[in-house]
Amino acid sequence: MSGKRVSHRNGNSPDYNIVLLGELGVGKSALTVKYITRRFIMEYDPNIEDTYTKHEDIDGTEMCIHVMDTYDKEDSDPLRYLRWADGFMVVYGITSRQSFDKAREYLESVTQYLKANSKDSPVALVGNKIDLERYRQISKVEGNTLAQEFESLFFETTAAEEFEYVEDVFHGIIHEIQREKGDRHV
Ligand code: GDP
Ligand code: MG
Repeated sequence: MSGKRVSHRNGNSPDYNIVLLGELGVGKSALTVKYITRRFIMEYDPNIEDTYTKHEDIDGTEMCIHVMDTYDKEDSDPLRYLRWADGFMVVYGITSRQSFDKAREYLESVTQYLKANSKDSPVALVGNKIDLERYRQISKVEGNTLAQEFESLFFETTAAEEFEYVEDVFHGIIHEIQREKGDRHV
């Protein structure tokens, strides 16, 4: 699977790595596939963990975005993504309290790792499935409060509707990665 390819003016466009974390079923794969291909895939093998690449041109800057769609088993080593990622997306489903509790655990372990390694990589808490508003269990305020507690970005989105809902989340975190790396000054 590959995204839109753009020509490279100088051949050294920056690479940014983004990892998606969260309980099984929250929509990590759906969000990844939507961002990469603009399509919503209803059924995606939950056991697949893979990394996808998309070439982007944001505000006239070309870059290469690598997205790791995780399948996190109890015994898998978190260092595989902790070391790799420039930015973290911790996903929950707004329809699942259990996935929200799991998101807190991910926020705790990611922020702990970043602190211990003196890293300042951006972290975003992402409430997915807002198309299922009538089944909402986690209010926007509650999500925002958790994000503030961990000084992370906060988004609500859906992989099932317009591409822009998903693109906004990825672009939001890409902007923060650029700022953190000194590649963007506004
Ligand atoms: P993952 O285990 O986190 O990778 O979750 P998946 O991407 O496999 O999605 C799990 C299930 O939720 C699938 O049936 C998806 O079709 C569904 N799903 C994912 N995102 C959304 C969304 O934004 N809205 C709705 N309605 N369903 C979604
Ligand atoms: Mg998956």
